[in-house]
Amino acid sequence: MLRHLIYKIKSTGPITVAEYMKEVLTNPAKGYYVYRDMLGEKGDFITSPEISQIFGELLGIWFISEWMATGKSTAFQLVELGPGRGTLVGDILRVFTQLGSVLKNCDISVHLVEVSQKLSEIQALTLTEEKVPLERNAGSPVYMKGVTKSGIPVSWYRDLQDVPKGYSFYLAHEFFDVLPVHKFQKTPQGWREVFVDIDPQVSDKLRFVLAPSATPAEAFIQHDETRDHVEVCPDAGVIIEELSERIALTGGAALVADYGHDGTRTDTFRGFCGHKLHDVLIAPGTADLTADVDFSYLRRMAQGKVASVGPIKQHTFLKNMGIDVRLKRLQGGRHQRNARQSKPFASLVAGFSELAWQ
Ligand code: SAH
Repeated sequence: MLRHLIYKIKSTGPITVAEYMKEVLTNPAKGYYVYRDMLGEKGDFITSPEISQIFGELLGIWFISEWMATGKSTAFQLVELGPGRGTLVGDILRVFTQLGSVLKNCDISVHLVEVSQKLSEIQALTLTEEKVPLERNAGSPVYMKGVTKSGIPVSWYRDLQDVPKGYSFYLAHEFFDVLPVHKFQKTPQGWREVFVDIDPQVSDKLRFVLAPSATPAEAFIQHDETRDHVEVCPDAGVIIEELSERIALTGGAALVADYGHDGTRTDTFRGFCGHKLHDVLIAPGTADLTADVDFSYLRRMAQGKVASVGPIKQHTFLKNMGIDVRLKRLQGGRHQRNARQSKPFASLVAGFSELAWQ
């Protein structure tokens, strides 16, 4: 990846941070996708698989309660953006099965938006029965189709735009933070974009440089911006606009859960490798890259089309959704079974206490 980037910079000049992120994270031509789970990093909010499972279950309950509150439509689509390994959607679907009596007259389908071929295969392994073959069509916008373990049709797309329009619940969990950001620094001459260039001192090392003049992505900076360093994510705006238009047109809701802030932070672009911070420019392709989501921007892009609420801390969301009751129930059940076989309840509670949504 470093050689590829150096070649690219040598032939066409320094690249934006957004281009750098895109190349490193999702360049399909290079066959790369750096996925945090595969590298065993990040995931630092939800440390225990049990808490992660409860999170999925509570999201399932949230979707069902939204469905009930909005008049129990006869059908809905569950659409996830960037499903990773597919475990979260698996946990949500389990709740749908458990609450089958509530949903029995509702026609549910699952739609996954995933750019990585490799991850889509892992998602299929998580969600579908091996015995039932998948339908593949690489040339089609719906590049794979199958049926989940509980008998629900599931389809894969590379782009949200290709998901059929219809009453939908959308989920984006740790998705927006991997979308490419442009970085800007305030200078006496005005905003200047941060680029990635080759270090003139060391030929195989990259470094940040400031653009000598204004660049187009500056248009995404607010006119009354007071910070001296900002990150803007045009792709996030495009996706939120699309989600908002869809929801306004056909009904439904979207839930965005991510590392983020409300338009206050500055330099949040960072790399993680093995749960540790990693220099974003060193050994590209070996670390997960992320930039905090600016929720104030997402809200602005939804404004006038749909109602938006939040952001709230994940901890608060889970408390409001009754995670304490769920944990107690789990504890009760464990005492009745063989307490020695299961993980101590204290570690689950500690896991939840660690959920410190920043
Ligand atoms: N939701 C999962 C995975 C988060 S990692 C979790 O919480 O663990 C980000 C996911 O988004 C990966 O599945 C990645 O392949 C996918 N992805 C990244 N950029 C994308 C894009 N532009 N469109 C669709 N999927 C994308």
